[in-house]
Parts: sequence; C-alpha cells; structure tokens
Amino acid sequence: MKKSRQLTYPPPVADGMKKFYENLDEIYSQVQKNLTAEAISPVDIGYPENPASADKPLLRPGELNLPGEEVEKVMLEITGEFLGFFSEEEKKFSDLEEFRDLLADDDFSAHELLINYLQDEIIPAEQPLEKNLFNQMMLFTIRPFFSWLAREGENSAKITDSWRESFCPICGAIPELARLTGERGERRLWCWVCSTEWQYNRFYCPHCGEEKADGQRYFTVEESAYRVDVCDSCDGYLKVIDEEKVSEKHHDSLSWMINDIGTQHLDRLARQEGYELGEK
Ligand SMILES: [Zn+2]
Ligand SMILES: [Zn+2]
Repeated sequence: MKKSRQLTYPPPVADGMKKFYENLDEIYSQVQKNLTAEAISPVDIGYPENPASADKPLLRPGELNLPGEEVEKVMLEITGEFLGFFSEEEKKFSDLEEFRDLLADDDFSAHELLINYLQDEIIPAEQPLEKNLFNQMMLFTIRPFFSWLAREGENSAKITDSWRESFCPICGAIPELARLTGERGERRLWCWVCSTEWQYNRFYCPHCGEEKADGQRYFTVEESAYRVDVCDSCDGYLKVIDEEKVSEKHHDSLSWMINDIGTQHLDRLARQEGYELGEK
C-alpha cells in the first residue's frame, strides 16, 4: 500500500467534539465579557499587585476571590454542554443531572467546590460525578478565569517573555503540548489551563528537568506534523507540533485546542508505552 505523503494539518477532530469545544469557548468569552463589564480588576480576584517581584506561579487557589455567581454559571453551562454531548447511555451513568441539582441548591457553593479542588484536590463525597469527569469539570470551569487573568494581569506578557521554567508562570500547570517554531526551532510550551505560551529549552525534559545533550528522545507517527518527546528518566511525555512540517499558511491560525484534542491518539500511544504526563 502506498503511504500518503500528505500531512494532515490541522488534525481531524470529530464534529461533535469540535462543537463541544466551540461551545465552551462561547461560554468563556461570555464570562470574560462580564468580568470586564463589571469592572473587576485582576487584583480584585487574585492576581498579585506586584507581579514582577511575586513568587511564581502568580495565581494561588488560596488567594483567589472569583465572582461566585459567574463560577456557578460557568459550571452549570458546562454541565449542560456535557449533557448535550453525551449519549443517552453515558448521560444515565454520568450523574450529571444530580450534579446540576446540587449546583442549584442554595446551600451549595460552586466557588468553594472549585477552590478546594484546586488547592487540595478535595472531591467532596456529596458530589456524584466520577473522578475523571469531576476533574475535567473543575479544569474547564477555571479556564475562563485563569486565561482572563493571564491576559489582563499587569506585566503578564513581560513575565511570560522572560520565563524559562517548565511550569506555567501564571497558573503553575505543567504543559502537555508544545511547538517547535522559528528559524532555530525553539520549543515553546503551551498551558492548557490559562493559554499562556513561553519558551523552554528543547534539550530539557519539562517534567524532571533533565538535560539531554542530543535533545529529547521522541517518536513520531508516519507522516505527521507531530512528535512526542519522551524522557526515560522520569517516563514523562510531551506532544510537540513541528511547525517546519506545517504549511506556512497555517502558522498564524494555529489552534492549540484543535491540536490538543486532535492528537489524543498520541496520548494513548504514549500511555501504552508507559509514559505519563508529569513525573511518576
Ligand atoms: Zn497556565
Ligand atoms: Zn524527565
């Protein structure tokens, strides 16, 4: 059989999945509009007053004071998106309707739920979702707030420009996706949570920091614009877009999100080989 030499870029993403993420983006831009409209300053909700001299990451769950009503609204809307996305069968087993009822209860605080999870990974017994779905619910909920703070916070671009560690300087997350870009092929990491992007030495493992003299070992799948950097010291992996293999017309329109969800087969492959996101 003849192998196709055509590089698939951007990666194919199933329509339902694409729609789900587009709807999330819509929810996010709505909440961000409200943040601006109500003239809430980043400092009011947890961004430090002196970011240049503050310890990194800048955002700390214990110091966040997000608008509670907006948090609840986002969580409810995301619950609705999951309900629309799931099949009848999945819906029945997901307990999303019970979760929605819990959010509607006046005595229940979505803000507290979110903060306790971000701070101490607390998953309260009264919430009915299965662990992975709950994790996703919390991370999807914090994204519009963190990405707004990352964009609007004073000096955040300056901080990102000079940052060279592997964790996100704004929210502390360890990235799962990067791109090789520019003439020298510098490796830039992308934070899934707050959408911050920064440069990170391509000879270092982002999970354990070990330097490899020949660069990180990686695997690729056939003719593709993607590779997966792997580290045999900590068994960590990182998905990487090689922009040299992406036609130039796509460089400016690069969608991190489409690249991330369109390469889930690479996550599966990496896990099958015993690699994990993050140090074991
Ligand atoms: Zn981040
Ligand atoms: Zn490593």
